Amino acid sequence: MPERLARDSARMLIGGHWRESADTLPLVNPSTGEEIGRIARGTPEDIDAAVAAAEAALEGAWGRLTAAERGRLLARIGALVLDHVDELARLEATDVGKPLTQARADAVALARYCEFYGGAADKVHGETIPYLDGYTVYTLREPHGVTGHIVPWNYPMQIIGRSVGAALAMGNACVLKPAEDACLTALAFAELAQEAGLPAGALNVVPGLGAEAGAALAAHPGIRHVSFTGSVGTGAAVQQAAGANVVPVTLELGGKSPQIVFADADLDAALPFLVNAGLQNAGQTCSASSRILVERSVLDEACARMAEAYSAKVVGPAMDDRDVGPLINATQRARVEGFLAQGADLPLLARARLADDLPEGGTYVQPTLFGPVPPDHVLAQDEVFGPVQVVIPFDTEDEAVRIANGTDYGLVASVWTRDGARQMRLAKKIRAGQVFLNNYGAGGGVELPFGGVGKSGHGREKGFEALYGFSVVKTVAARHG
Ligand code: NAD
Repeated sequence: MPERLARDSARMLIGGHWRESADTLPLVNPSTGEEIGRIARGTPEDIDAAVAAAEAALEGAWGRLTAAERGRLLARIGALVLDHVDELARLEATDVGKPLTQARADAVALARYCEFYGGAADKVHGETIPYLDGYTVYTLREPHGVTGHIVPWNYPMQIIGRSVGAALAMGNACVLKPAEDACLTALAFAELAQEAGLPAGALNVVPGLGAEAGAALAAHPGIRHVSFTGSVGTGAAVQQAAGANVVPVTLELGGKSPQIVFADADLDAALPFLVNAGLQNAGQTCSASSRILVERSVLDEACARMAEAYSAKVVGPAMDDRDVGPLINATQRARVEGFLAQGADLPLLARARLADDLPEGGTYVQPTLFGPVPPDHVLAQDEVFGPVQVVIPFDTEDEAVRIANGTDYGLVASVWTRDGARQMRLAKKIRAGQVFLNNYGAGGGVELPFGGVGKSGHGREKGFEALYGFSVVKTVAARHG
C-alpha cells in the first residue's frame, strides 16, 4: 500500500468514487526534504460535491443502517486497520517524519478507536422522563447530519480515529479535510473503510490547503457540526465561519501542559514521563508536556537526571526509528528555531544528539532542555510545538498551582507526589481537561474524555463524551390522557 499510495496520492474520495484532482500540491518526506509525489488540491467545488455525497448517504444505504450494523462496520474497519499496521506506519513515517515505533502506535490507536466506537455505537440512547399525568416523554439521540473534520498533521491517524470514528458510530456522514502536510493515512484509512463495506458517501476525503478546502468546509451551510484540531488562530477562524451557520464546533488547540514534581515524588517512575512527554513526535503534540515544575529542594537532582536522559536521546530519519524524527516542514523548523533563539540567555541543561549523516534536506532540530526558567518567560508561556522543554522551580503547593494555571492554555497536567490528599487537592485546583496523578497521558486513553479549557479549546473528544458531542437530543412529549 505505501509505495502505491505515494505514487497514486493525488486523489480524493467523494461519494464512494476516487477522483483525480485538477490541481496538485507537493508531497514531501520531512526526513529527506525530497518530493516523493503529489497530493490533491481540493477546491470549494470539491467540498460542495463531498457535502452533497454525504447528504445522499444519509438518505440512502448509510442512513438506513441500524446502530448495531454501524458498530459492526466500524469493528470490521478496525480489524482491517490492525491487519495493515506496518503499512500505515511506514506511510505515516514517510509523510510526516514520525519514527516508525511511534507511527505504529498511532495505527494501533486508530484501530482501537474503531473497535471502541464500534462497540459503543448501539449503547448511547435516549431516556424516558417522568412528566405530567397523561403524558409519556422520551428523548431520542440523533446524528447531526453531515459533519466536517479538519485534521492537522501531527497525529493524523489518532485524530481521524477519535473524530470520524465517533461521528460514524452515531450515524453522521463525514467530510474529512486532512492537513496538506499529511494526507496519506487519511486516504489509506478511507480505502480500508471502503474495503470493509462502508456505504458510499459515509466518509468523504478531500485533501487540500486550509485556506481553500478547509475554509470552504468550515463555512459550508450543509455542514451541521465541525470538529477542528490545530492552531488557536485557525481554530478561531473556523469557529467564526461555522458560527455564521450557527453550527456547533469542537476545538482542540494545543497547550502548554505542566508536570508538577514534588519533593516526595518517585523520581525514578516520573523520569521517563517527564522527558518522553516532551520529545514524543518531536514535541509536535498538542498534549506535549513542555513545562516541568519542580519543588526547589529536589531541583538539582531532577535537572541532572533529566539532562542525563536528554543527552542519551538521538534524532534521526523516521525510517531509522530513533527517539526523535524531523519536524514536519521548514516553516515549522524556522518557528522552533525562533523560539530557541529567544532562549539563548536561559541556562541550558542539555541537548539531545543529532545522528551522524542526517540527510541534508531533512527538517531536524536539536531537542533542548532549559532550566531554571522564570514562569513568565516566552518559552514558559507560548506553545513551541517542537522538542523544547523548560524546568521551572517552585517552593510551595500554592505557588505550583499558580504557575501551572498561569498560561492561556489548559489541556493536560500531571502531579507527581506520594501525598494522597495533595493529589486530590491539585486534581481539583488545576485548570485542565485532563489531570494525571503519578503518570502522564495514561498511554493515550481512547476511553478517556479529552479536550481543553481556555485557549486549549472546548468540547470533548474520546470516550463516550465524543458520542454525546456527535449527536443531538430530541425530546418527544406525547399527550395521551
Ligand atoms: P493549522 O491550524 O493552520 O492547520 C490545521 C488544519 O486546519 C489543517 O488541516 C489546515 O489545512 C486547516 N486549515 C488551515 N487554515 C484553515 C482555515 N482558514 N479554515 C479551515 N481550515 C484551515 O496548523 P498548522 O499550520 O498545520 O500548524 C501551525 C501551528 O498550529 C503549529 O505550529 C502548532 O502550534 C499548531 N498546531 C497545533 C496542533 C494541535 O494538535 N493542537 C496541531 C497542529 C498544529
